[in-house]
Amino acid sequence: MKPIQLHNPIFQTRGVRLHVLPLYLNDPVISGNKPYKLKYNLLDAKKQDQHTILTFGGAFSNHIHATAAACKQAGFKSIGLIRGEQTLPLNSTLSFAKKCGMQIEYLDRETYRKKTSAEFIKKLHQQFGEFYLVPEGASNALGVKGCSEILNDVNSNNFNYICCPWGTGATLQGIGLSLQSNQKALGFSVLKGVSQLQPGLQNESANFQIIGDYHFGGYAKSSPELIRFTEEFEKTTTIPLDPVYTSKMFYGIYDLIQKGFFSPGTRILAIHTGGLKVFPVTF
Ligand SMILES: *Cc1c(COP(=O)(O)O)cnc(C)c1O
Repeated sequence: MKPIQLHNPIFQTRGVRLHVLPLYLNDPVISGNKPYKLKYNLLDAKKQDQHTILTFGGAFSNHIHATAAACKQAGFKSIGLIRGEQTLPLNSTLSFAKKCGMQIEYLDRETYRKKTSAEFIKKLHQQFGEFYLVPEGASNALGVKGCSEILNDVNSNNFNYICCPWGTGATLQGIGLSLQSNQKALGFSVLKGVSQLQPGLQNESANFQIIGDYHFGGYAKSSPELIRFTEEFEKTTTIPLDPVYTSKMFYGIYDLIQKGFFSPGTRILAIHTGGLKVFPVTF
């Protein structure tokens, strides 16, 4: 997969180059960063001779969408525990997951918060029997390991900065692992308050940094300015963005370039991590 160069007068003014790695094109269904996050989790489940994958997510979760499809493809049964109440008709994410064969169950918000406790997981085993647990977002060490392969086929030595959106941080951390010491990964947080790392993930290190100024009010929040930017970006580049992750990252990158954050001569690679507006699969 080849990075695509973007053009804009401000890049010239600031003397920087911006390329995009279009991971949203890697698969029509399980796209973006999700196949990388799931890869070693599903291989581990196979190795342990497990037949059912159980995981967690919100009702609009790209992770639920991707896990349902990947399980169908790899021959696993899947169970998705969804935060909050059931709303009918099912939205496109959940109806897609169901079509893939995922068993959908709902957890109220308070119960959902207990999803990593040993006691709660024991109860889940009593209810659902044997399963292999993939955490929310597949953001564990195996997810990070998969994300360390995102740049495998890219000549990434050409770039000084690698940018990606920051949700749980597993993607950024995986990318950070694969960089040379003179390169840096920047994660654009889509959440308000960025210090929350998923359990099992390490803290910010020398080769990656979290940018916290472009969350636009928090997860899935937006603003007229962000929407205007997204429309303009899509029109001029023909690259589709999703409202939760990639639009905020690109807004942030353009703003930082404009503000002179990157010194002249800098080469930036933005990882387009996918997202659902890109391929709204409907049945
Ligand atoms: C899931 C997702 C992310 C978040 O990745 P993390 O590893 O949790 O930081 C980013 N972008 C898109 C499009 C996603 O679907």
